[in-house]
Amino acid sequence: MRSRIKLSKRLEKVSSYLPRGAFFADIGSDHAYLPCFICMHDSAAKAIAGEINEGPARSAIDNVNLYGLSDVVDVRLGDGLHILKMDEINQLVIAGMGGALIKSILEEGAGKLDSVQRIIAQPNIDARSVRRWFLENGFTVTNEEIVDDNGHIYEIIVADKGEVSSPYVSNMKDKQLLFGPLLLKNKTKAFYKKWNAEYEKLQFVINQMKEANVQNLEKIERFEMELKWIKEVL
Ligand code: SAM
Repeated sequence: MRSRIKLSKRLEKVSSYLPRGAFFADIGSDHAYLPCFICMHDSAAKAIAGEINEGPARSAIDNVNLYGLSDVVDVRLGDGLHILKMDEINQLVIAGMGGALIKSILEEGAGKLDSVQRIIAQPNIDARSVRRWFLENGFTVTNEEIVDDNGHIYEIIVADKGEVSSPYVSNMKDKQLLFGPLLLKNKTKAFYKKWNAEYEKLQFVINQMKEANVQNLEKIERFEMELKWIKEVL
């Protein structure tokens, strides 16, 4: 008998932000667990699993076949949003990559986002790049979550199309982009865990930079400012 998919806590949280009956793409889907899980539990949902690498795309196809979901989960091999046709999806998931890569996938595929109402991003690092892209491209952060999954801390950012009630305040914007405008309002245990660790890391980096023969003063100053911000939120 086919076993049911058990998602990690991180992917389960990501999946919880898709509405019932979603028609979505999961870019960088790897094993396609997320689209399979959603379509298994929601008979109205449909998904496209995008993968740039052949190995993961193969395991995505194998899983889709194993779970008998080939009518509702379409695995496509290719780069970012290039695998999509115009107006094909209403929601987009990009999880488990760095923020800079997520941002470049959004940037390069911006022409495919006309029909997309919601983007759920889970950057492993540099969430700030993703928030900034949302801010500059007409998507409003409507939910943010910080998850402790087996000792690893992950940020999930949900952004909806439209700019009604922006969470950003002009004199706080840079700080909000770093920590997350909504995460800052509700600082959880995972938030403190992440930013305590980031504080230690940044302090170490600054000390190393100060000991270098040639010092990048501009960078040291920027990092010291961020260190001050972190101290303020802790
Ligand atoms: N999304 C899954 C998750 O969160 O568990 C898998 C994350 S996995 C670490 C990242 C996947 O993204 C890899 O399978 C990689 O091949 C794929 N990937 C990286 N860049 C991509 C791109 N430009 N377009 C599509 N897939 C990409």
